Amino acid sequence: MKKSLLIILLIQLWLSLDAQRRDPLDVKIDFESYDPPSTLVVPENPINAAKFPFVDVHSHHWRMAEQDLDKLIAEMDAMNMQVVVNLSGRGGERLKAMTDNIKKYGYEDRIIVFTNIEIRSIDDPTWAENTVKQLQYDYDNGARGLKIYKSQGMTNQDSSGNRIRINDPRIDPVWEKCGELGIPVLIHSADPKPFWMPHDSLNERWLELKLRPGRKRSADNPASWENIIAEAHDLFRRHSNTTFINAHMGWFPNNLEKLGTLLDEIPNMYVEIGAVIAELGRQPRNAAKFFEKYQDRVLFGKDSYQPGEYPTYFRVLESADEYFPYYKRYHAFWKMYGLDLSDEILEKLYYKNALKVIPGLNPDMWETDMKSE
Ligand SMILES: [Zn+2]
Repeated sequence: MKKSLLIILLIQLWLSLDAQRRDPLDVKIDFESYDPPSTLVVPENPINAAKFPFVDVHSHHWRMAEQDLDKLIAEMDAMNMQVVVNLSGRGGERLKAMTDNIKKYGYEDRIIVFTNIEIRSIDDPTWAENTVKQLQYDYDNGARGLKIYKSQGMTNQDSSGNRIRINDPRIDPVWEKCGELGIPVLIHSADPKPFWMPHDSLNERWLELKLRPGRKRSADNPASWENIIAEAHDLFRRHSNTTFINAHMGWFPNNLEKLGTLLDEIPNMYVEIGAVIAELGRQPRNAAKFFEKYQDRVLFGKDSYQPGEYPTYFRVLESADEYFPYYKRYHAFWKMYGLDLSDEILEKLYYKNALKVIPGLNPDMWETDMKSE
């Protein structure tokens, strides 16, 4: 009897040790903490400065009227940024104060400013006339484009509390004036589509919406994603003499076939790649094909001005590196691959397309055949 009891005890001990050995496999690791360093060993080619001097068409520098511009230019030089476009010109006297400061430093060739307008007083019968006057004033003071913020056409309301649609015909004189002045309109409409979708395990932006809950919208708040996007497209189509730069690849960087169709249909629309590089980096072959086909329609933009983040853009566009990380996990929980774009395409993306679209850029800053064109 004693012997069999001992055998039973030994079997029980073995089973419990075995269970302990298996236990770690049963432990759930949450999505946020699971981020193992990659064991993959492949060539790495970090790129700290762009291959060609580039124009960043999407940047924000709100304090440019007082800013130390030597510091900004030194940062730009380090990454081979030839020109920065500050989209936050604000308009009127505040814009003039910025362009005055740029002149004081002598950086008119290196820093371009776009102006902004205010649309919430659209019910005022003199709104259109006054806004067009402001555009002329800003242009005379050096503004070389108009930036429309995403709040305009999404959350801005008129005096009766109705959402102002960006294709509201009362704004038409503004787009016509931009066409007449020959300045582009850079427009940000809506946000990534997952912001309008349920915040659950099927949402690719689940982590972003958890960390930035203010970005979450219900399906129709303040309108559907499809409607807000369609209103901008309607505006582009109706004003074919005005050039539009659709920010963030028009929020179709994850559907380049659709974006290509739109570019085919709307010849006065360009796009820029600000804040969507991780979308391109997860489809390197498809994105490279897109750049091949639409090389005359895409501009370089970054949006958030963080010098430390630009090298990731250069690496995606220029290198053939494999499986490297994006810098914000809440935008991309995936790794990225370089597109290995040709010099011809890179030159268009980095500056040649900007030279065509934005007036006032000095082509003499580039060693290019465009000077004679
Ligand atoms: Zn922006």
